[in-house]
Amino acid sequence: MDIVTPEQRSKNMAAIRSKDTKPEVYFRKLLFAKGYRYSLNSKKVPGHPDIYLRKYNTAVFIHGCFWHRHEGCEFTYMPKSRIEFWQNKFEANRKRDFVVRNELREKGIKCLVVWECSVKKMQKDEEFQIRLLDKVVAFLTSEDSFMEL
Ligand SMILES: [Zn+2]
Repeated sequence: MDIVTPEQRSKNMAAIRSKDTKPEVYFRKLLFAKGYRYSLNSKKVPGHPDIYLRKYNTAVFIHGCFWHRHEGCEFTYMPKSRIEFWQNKFEANRKRDFVVRNELREKGIKCLVVWECSVKKMQKDEEFQIRLLDKVVAFLTSEDSFMEL
């Protein structure tokens, strides 16, 4: 799976980096370039994850920091008007995420959350990208059931 020459690897990286894509598209292309195969928005998996790696029984969610309230993140600001509306919305999102995580755990499906700010950093910083992907690879073959990056 990881048998890619350094030359091929930097070609892959360049091909991916050059495109201005949505975070979930960017992230799944990275996985694809590393040899992973997956299905998208699988309806059979709780929460309909952005990416589902059947071989590793792992659901991957690329979470927008604003919508899913990434704690301590600069993108997790509170809008200045219609505060009650937003608070209700955020609370509903948080509850749904919690329910989905429990459903996945009950079914024995691993859950990986990648925050959008991490993907943005990956797009700009190749060192960071490599480190983060190493963590993803380690998680896939670990006994852990949940990880967020
Ligand atoms: Zn964030």
